[in-house]
Amino acid sequence: MNSIGGNTILLQFARGGLRGAVVAESRDKYLLLSHTRAELHDVVHCAGLLRAIKGAGEIDMDKLPIPEYDEVPLEAIASGLTGLRILFVNIFAITNPQGGWVLVDTGIPYSAGRIRKWIGSLFGHGARPLAIIQTHGHFDHTGALEDLGKYWDVPIYAHRDEIPYLSGRENYPPPNTSAGGGLMTWMSPLFPREPVDVRQWLRELEPDGRIPELPEWRWIHTPGHTEGHISLFREGDRALIVGDAFCTTKSESFFAVAKQEPELHGPPAYYTTDWDRARGSVRKLADLKPAILAPGHGLPMAAPEAENALRTLARDFDRIARPSDETRPDTKPPQSPESGEPIESRFPS
Ligand SMILES: [Zn+2]
Ligand SMILES: [Zn+2]
Repeated sequence: MNSIGGNTILLQFARGGLRGAVVAESRDKYLLLSHTRAELHDVVHCAGLLRAIKGAGEIDMDKLPIPEYDEVPLEAIASGLTGLRILFVNIFAITNPQGGWVLVDTGIPYSAGRIRKWIGSLFGHGARPLAIIQTHGHFDHTGALEDLGKYWDVPIYAHRDEIPYLSGRENYPPPNTSAGGGLMTWMSPLFPREPVDVRQWLRELEPDGRIPELPEWRWIHTPGHTEGHISLFREGDRALIVGDAFCTTKSESFFAVAKQEPELHGPPAYYTTDWDRARGSVRKLADLKPAILAPGHGLPMAAPEAENALRTLARDFDRIARPSDETRPDTKPPQSPESGEPIESRFPS
């Protein structure tokens, strides 16, 4: 289940009465078996992504045809705050009152070209940020970081505890594949855990919460999902960028991620290492009474829905977010979140 053999990936899954499979055979050839639902289309691209990041072959993600709904601008979330969703993860650009801007997170691997194109459409061709801020160092938030660091040559800020994962020194712990079920959880062992290395541009965030490039904003330590995870808050309009402290989509389910229905969930369970601290972080964020939520996964949310939903998540965190088997080794096959049917996997060598 944890390996990709040669040039072939086979994903088999069950959803409701539907069964489907995707075979990625070569650089640009994908064979879709079974039904032709929109969701299956996403899995094709995910298969391409997985194959690319495992190094099974060179593939240019920038040239892969991605359906329009897989690259979605999240416009005018708040004043000076705009975002872009590529596949299943969001990145954000924040403008400061002087007109400079900062990029928050850098998306999935192989998306540097897409990010630069989006930045060009916002700020003009060749525009360069004042800095990049990383909420944390997971692969789906640092995919384009090395490329963009080289291209822009600007400071990259992260929390002190996240530095080892951004400077090539430490791997993240393996994912908990029994947490949360769902296709994303099942695929999570295939996600890369190797650190990126951007030490040349890397800076620790100021300990007092200030961000020199963004005077209206401050960073808040929100550990649990990772040790050095941070969120960003602007007091003026109570806008909150939450990273993976929590999600507005059920990130363990590929189908929920693909549909992006707005609802509040905990952090991605397969990656979260400390659930007590994760709960503390959600409560810390709820105490800020944010009016705008901009998550790493899922759609942005605004008041009053945002505040109520976050209050509920903070109060009932253990029931809503915490997996019942958070530390148990993987003993049963993962199940489809919708149907409860087991998801089968087979990787021919
Ligand atoms: Zn994460
Ligand atoms: Zn994430």
